[in-house]
This record gives sequence, C-alpha cells and structure tokens, in this order.
Amino acid sequence: MTDTALAELLSSRIRDVPDYPKPGVLFKDIAPLLADAEAFAALTTALAGRAGELGATKVVGLEARGFVLAAPAAFAAGLGFVPIRKKGKLPGEVFEQSYDLEYGSATLEVQCDAFEPGEKVLVVDDVLATGGTIAASLDLVRRTGAQLVGVVVLMELGLLGGRDRLSTHLDGAPLETL
Ligand code: AMP
Repeated sequence: MTDTALAELLSSRIRDVPDYPKPGVLFKDIAPLLADAEAFAALTTALAGRAGELGATKVVGLEARGFVLAAPAAFAAGLGFVPIRKKGKLPGEVFEQSYDLEYGSATLEVQCDAFEPGEKVLVVDDVLATGGTIAASLDLVRRTGAQLVGVVVLMELGLLGGRDRLSTHLDGAPLETL
C-alpha cells in the first residue's frame, strides 16, 4: 500500500468528536480505526515496517492508546514491547519525568531496566499535539541509556507546535506521521 493510500485509509477511520473531553477540544477518536480489521492491520504493518527499517530492537508505546498501536507492531516486527506509563503504575525502580499540561502537570515513568545495553528504540503514540507527552518520553528513553531511532505517530495536530517542541529532543532521529 502506498503512503498516500495508507493515509487515506487511516484518515477515513478516525472520527472527530467536537468539545470532548472539554469544550474547545476536537478529539481524534481512533476507536473506528481499531475496530476495522483492514485499517488496523494496515496500521500495524506500517508501524512494524518502520521499526524494521529503522533498526529498532524495541517498540515503546505511551499509555494508553500508544499501547494499542505499539504492542501489535512490536509483535509483527518480531520485537519486544516496552510501556511508558503514568506515574505509580510500574513496579520496581523507575525513571520519572514530569511535564506541563494546560492546567497542572503530569508524570510519566519507565522501568530503569527496560532495555539491555545498546538497544535501539522506536517510540509510538496516537496523537502528537503540543508534544509534551512525547518530549517527556524521549527524555525517559535517553535516561535508560537506550538509543532513540525514531518516533512514529498516527497523526499530528500541526497547529499546536509539537514538532517544533520535539526538535530539541530527537537527537537527529526522524519524527514521522502516518
Ligand atoms: P501532547 O502531549 O499535547 O502532544 O498530547 C498528546 C497526548 O494526548 C497523546 O497521548 C494523545 O492520546 C492525547 N491527545 C492530545 N490531543 C488529542 C486530541 N485532540 N485527540 C485525541 N487525543 C489527544
């Protein structure tokens, strides 16, 4: 499938929900995409393909919808999956990283022993909005000692400046939108 055909298929299965979860937010609902076997398979195949091309040894998913995309892609690519979770959900020693939200802040964590030395990581999430979530996640990956080889998101809300914000966190790794 060409990139254009994939983008059209995926776009056609994403539902815009105005004013959710609060007024003024246009929520990008991926439930119809996940429920469509053809679109979900195409997405999984594309993510797994990028993981292979980029030489990843692990696929990282960001809680919660990133898990749903990253875990099957890791399986399809023959790779392991690593979760980055919200604070307080992972046992054992963790690195934690806080980041600002519109109101307040949030904290993400990764297990300190999530990666073996020399591992190469592809980070996957559903939506790049302001970039705060992925920026914090990339800082966590760096602290584990693993090498970032790329970030792939299903979609990017271009007006929110996420790509600019991430430019200083990518260390030259590509940021791609399906
Ligand atoms: P941000 O940190 O601002 O880039 O926000 C990214 C995270 O928030 C992703 O994990 C998304 O799941 C979620 N998110 C942000 N904006 C939206 C939106 N308009 N629709 C759906 N999810 C969103």
